[in-house]
Amino acid sequence: MSRLILDDVTKVFEDGDEEIVAVDDISVEIPDGEFLVLVGPSGCGKSTTLRMIAGLETITDGEIRLDDSVQNDVRTQDRDIAMVFQSYALYPHKTARGNMSFGLEEATDLSDAEIDDRVTEAASMMGIEGLLDRLPGELSGGQQQRVALGRAIVRDPEVFLMDEPLSNLDAKLRAEMRTELQQLQQQLGVTTVYVTHDQTEAMTMSDRIAVMNDGKLQQVGRPLELYHEPANLFVAQFIGEPSMNFLTGRREGSSFVTDRIQYPLPMDIADAVGDATDLVFGIRPEDIEIGESADNPAHEFEMTATVVEPMGNQNVVHLEFPGETEGTEDLVATTEGMKQVDAGETVRVYIPPETVHVFDAASGEALH
Ligand code: ATP
Repeated sequence: MSRLILDDVTKVFEDGDEEIVAVDDISVEIPDGEFLVLVGPSGCGKSTTLRMIAGLETITDGEIRLDDSVQNDVRTQDRDIAMVFQSYALYPHKTARGNMSFGLEEATDLSDAEIDDRVTEAASMMGIEGLLDRLPGELSGGQQQRVALGRAIVRDPEVFLMDEPLSNLDAKLRAEMRTELQQLQQQLGVTTVYVTHDQTEAMTMSDRIAVMNDGKLQQVGRPLELYHEPANLFVAQFIGEPSMNFLTGRREGSSFVTDRIQYPLPMDIADAVGDATDLVFGIRPEDIEIGESADNPAHEFEMTATVVEPMGNQNVVHLEFPGETEGTEDLVATTEGMKQVDAGETVRVYIPPETVHVFDAASGEALH
């Protein structure tokens, strides 16, 4: 069993007179064998969180535990953790085999034969058996990353920590490695924390995603849970591509009103909104229906398609309300690729009430 627990963890860096709160009171429990992806924009504190788990950074406040064992003061080399970096961090003068076995020779009392067996097994998992006698300089970026992953596997750790391990690879290789890494993690069943700013990696690889912003944890949940039930505006705009549309307005009586539209609120939304007056409506591009009338005039609007991007399987249609100054855009919708919408065309746009997300404009918290 290896359950990883972060309990009110905070990291403050001192920079001269200034204090930088890089990680602000984070709590999360990662069950044994889970693949947790930590996502968020640059500077939000992802790497610092990972480095505290690894013991590469001290913890200002709070506790990190592996099962019941507090790790705060355990030295990096004594933590049962293997880390994989974006930069691979291979020793340039050691062969692939040497890089993979080095940690074991140092930190364990395994015999040479046992180490050799482990290296061979990890190399075969990573498909690099034939490359073991090469130096890093004689390997491609993808092969070097396989060696770095192999080095983590031979340690047979309780926890894998990965900091953007695929971001130096080209798009095709990255997509391949994504699937492979995910299969490998499932096969080994090792609790994994994986840092990325790439939401595709987060959505496709993880059991759960933890979204961070500005040092704070915004939401932790399964990928589709975050997609369908974002807890706040930050998560709503961060997860999903093309991203969610937002319309800013206010509640007036039983309607949501912007300077362009009046949208009658269905009862369940009106109830959820309660006393809040300043609202943001969130609408996923695929929820918008373009074309035939849905026979719901109150929730239908006339809009102009300004730009249409055919992607094959779908079109991305940029829409604006009448009277909008040129160059502004009100909504982005996706439609099936077979459906033809032309730039400049005026279309009926239906925003189905059951798909609408509503946020409190002041706090950003989801109301519905
Ligand atoms: P990126 O995706 O760009 O790697 P990140 O989410 O991993 O970003 P961190 O590297 O954890 O972010 O940094 C979080 C904050 O802490 C940033 O404001 C950063 O400038 C600051 N920070 C990180 N390390 C130090 C340090 N050693 N001294 C001072 N400030 C630091």
